[in-house]
Amino acid sequence: MGTAAGASAIQCRGEKIVNLDNVRVVLVGPLYGGNVGSVCRAMANMGLSDLAIVPERSLNMDEARMMACHATDILESRSTHTTLKEAVEDCGVVMGTSARTGLYRQHAKTPREWAPTVLADTSRGRVALVFGREDKGLTNEELSVCSRIIQIPTSDSYTSLNLSQAVMVCCYEIFVAADLYEPPIEKSPLAPTAFRERMFDIWRALLLMIGFMGDDKCDHMMQGFRRVMGRGAVTEDDVRIMIGVARQAEWAAEHLQESLKAEGDKGEKAEQ
Ligand code: SAH
Repeated sequence: MGTAAGASAIQCRGEKIVNLDNVRVVLVGPLYGGNVGSVCRAMANMGLSDLAIVPERSLNMDEARMMACHATDILESRSTHTTLKEAVEDCGVVMGTSARTGLYRQHAKTPREWAPTVLADTSRGRVALVFGREDKGLTNEELSVCSRIIQIPTSDSYTSLNLSQAVMVCCYEIFVAADLYEPPIEKSPLAPTAFRERMFDIWRALLLMIGFMGDDKCDHMMQGFRRVMGRGAVTEDDVRIMIGVARQAEWAAEHLQESLKAEGDKGEKAEQ
């Protein structure tokens, strides 16, 4: 099964033009095929498809395919290069990622801080996100090719993320900033007061019937019940469910009483 590679190409949301196809993930000297596969999956999840690799050793491609899961098309369509400079030669902006602080890294910003800038740049050219080797990261020479540095915030006690997780965090921030995701919306309208009051009446009758409360405590208990039901915005679907539960409980209580009575009558007859 393929991914939706390219599906997020150029999308307009209001004034904003976002071209996620112009974001290239560049892996320099990855050691493990599994990580490369996981990178493909992360990219597909976040709407990216352009993967470039600067290989330094042969990768375990079975492992890569396994971890790529439904994103093998990104793996198969990757470009390979002999140097980082070659991998980014057509990119207008090159952003390096590093877990380390210090020399050449003082201007580092988080993926969240960089994301709006990256998106703005994608409407005018290609942006490369460069990731280093699992064991040694990027060399200073490679970092010098990058005009911007991304640092993912972490605990001081362990600052280095797994390669594919670092890719995921960066791609996720770009995707979220692109505002392409449409969250699910509640379709059921808010329940109007009259409908909610009907539900309270039905529950009031039920709670009295099953002896949960007596007439004396009724108003007090119903205040509590109303408080529970009023914590969120109650929808028409919510009210329908609550009325359904009450109706069923009423029915069960009546039938239970009838069957208990029938059992009792049977017992009495047997004793006679
Ligand atoms: N031991 C290496 C880390 C390698 S992790 C080092 O000290 O540099 C592999 C790659 O994941 C890094 O080269 C970088 O591209 C990315 N990465 C891992 N942790 C990161 C972090 N906290 N911020 C930014 N990139 C990170």
